[in-house]
Amino acid sequence: MDQPTQPLPTSVDVVVAGAGPTGLVVAIMLEQAGLDVLVVDRAGQPGTDPRASILHVRTAELLAGLGLGPTMVEHAEPISSATYFDVGLPVCDLRFESLGSDYAALGISQVDLEQALVDRLEAIGGVVHRPVAVESVTADGAGAIVEVTRSGGDPLPIASRFVIGCDGATSSIRQQAGLEGSGGDVPESFVVANIELSGDLDRSAMSLFAADDGFLVLSPLPDNLWRYTATADRDASVPTPEQLQLVLSERGPRTSSLTLGRPHDIGRYRLRRTIAKRLRSGGLLLAGDAAHTFSPAGGQGMNTGIADAINLGWKLALVATGRAHDELLDTYNTERRRAARDAAERVERFGGALSLHNPVARGLRDAVALLASRVDVLSSPVLRGLAGFDTVYTKGAVMKGKPGGRRWGSVGERLDGLVASMLTDNAHHILVADPDEASDYRRLADRYHAPTHVEVIESGGRSGAALVRPDGHIGWLGNQGSIGDLEAHLDRWLTRT
Ligand SMILES: Cc1cc2nc3c(=O)[nH]c(=O)nc-3n(C[C@H](O)[C@H](O)[C@H](O)COP(=O)(O)OP(=O)(O)OC[C@H]3O[C@@H](n4cnc5c(N)ncnc54)[C@H](O)[C@@H]3O)c2cc1C
Repeated sequence: MDQPTQPLPTSVDVVVAGAGPTGLVVAIMLEQAGLDVLVVDRAGQPGTDPRASILHVRTAELLAGLGLGPTMVEHAEPISSATYFDVGLPVCDLRFESLGSDYAALGISQVDLEQALVDRLEAIGGVVHRPVAVESVTADGAGAIVEVTRSGGDPLPIASRFVIGCDGATSSIRQQAGLEGSGGDVPESFVVANIELSGDLDRSAMSLFAADDGFLVLSPLPDNLWRYTATADRDASVPTPEQLQLVLSERGPRTSSLTLGRPHDIGRYRLRRTIAKRLRSGGLLLAGDAAHTFSPAGGQGMNTGIADAINLGWKLALVATGRAHDELLDTYNTERRRAARDAAERVERFGGALSLHNPVARGLRDAVALLASRVDVLSSPVLRGLAGFDTVYTKGAVMKGKPGGRRWGSVGERLDGLVASMLTDNAHHILVADPDEASDYRRLADRYHAPTHVEVIESGGRSGAALVRPDGHIGWLGNQGSIGDLEAHLDRWLTRT
């Protein structure tokens, strides 16, 4: 918990500004790597408003890779599918288990997730300093001076090699660095509440209700609660329970009658859709809502922020400890800015499809959705997008080169079926199909400071070898005998012993 009396250091390796989910995940990774990390948050206490409520399958995998699997499951309600309704009638059910992951999506309140992350950070020796606000950041080639204030006191300068702005949608670090992106206001506002419900609705599914005048999403949370998210007009007032019930009756299922029980924490929010110009400027990096914001349709905001944190975490851990070249950090910008743009487009398509007014367009949408639910090849892109499986790094810390390595997947994709617990030591893994080649790969791996493990995997009709990055994405694929290509790839990013 907060330790307001703890003195602040005058010099650290990394300042993490903001202890939301993004800042906490990156802080855990850097602390695990043995770096000197200062985590500050201007708020005296963690937020208690209802915000994100779903960890998608890929995020659940990544957090499990950090060793948080059991804790998350303890605080969460498993969600195995997304059921889509039009004018209250079920159209199709998209099942997450068809993705072949060991994890379901998890209904978890952001408040509980943040607490689990704080517990983890503290267990490994970290701390969140509250209320400590970053007032200014002055960066030069060698690092930055971060001025912070505690409880409105005098500014205190802290020298830091790197500063990560995880300070949310209104990020002052982004503004000071001149990295503001263009964008626009999302036309609707969103009503969110944690509610009790009586009536018959599947608690293993998130239910998406499309209607003439917007959409409603009901997804399960622990303690028999539901997260209620509905589009509304731009009115700023917080709705009453009666207004929530009216929307539920109008947009909810026709097949059963749902009655709103006690609502908890009703809120309404509006947002801007924007992506920062760049996510890196020298030693200053942006992640999470500080880097991008978009509509909550599909619950992608927090999930995208956590994926940023993981991508940045392993790279910065290696660079800041001298085990990788500084250029590796540029690939954070390349990979995650593109991922944020893709997520924003996906959310737009998704929200747009749920809010169609034209009856012909709605009929077409439903026909496609129904067909997609029955034909894997059609359902797969929607499911993969929702679950966070469609992030493919085509540019960045990946080597396209010659095609090779049959049946591992494609370069840049998440490696299917082998979930890494690699994030605890930021290790790369070289997977080799032919045991006779393993010793050559082991000799190569030993030449780098960064932990690089070699494993022989003979099953699955695979050939050649694959380099799997700490985040579980395939960084390189090669045929038998192409070890020289891998050496060139590793030399580009990692330092030699
Ligand atoms: C009402 C609502 C509903 C939402 N629903 C969903 C959803 O269903 N699914 C989903 O995925 N996402 C949802 N989101 C978005 C999700 O909450 C955000 O994407 C997520 O919180 C981003 O995490 P973050 O750590 O990047 O930023 P934040 O959670 O915003 O954390 C930023 C932190 O930085 C601190 N801070 C700010 N300025 C400073 C400073 N100068 N110095 C020090 N600290 C500072 C703040 O106090 C805060 O703790 C919702 C958001 C809202 C508001």
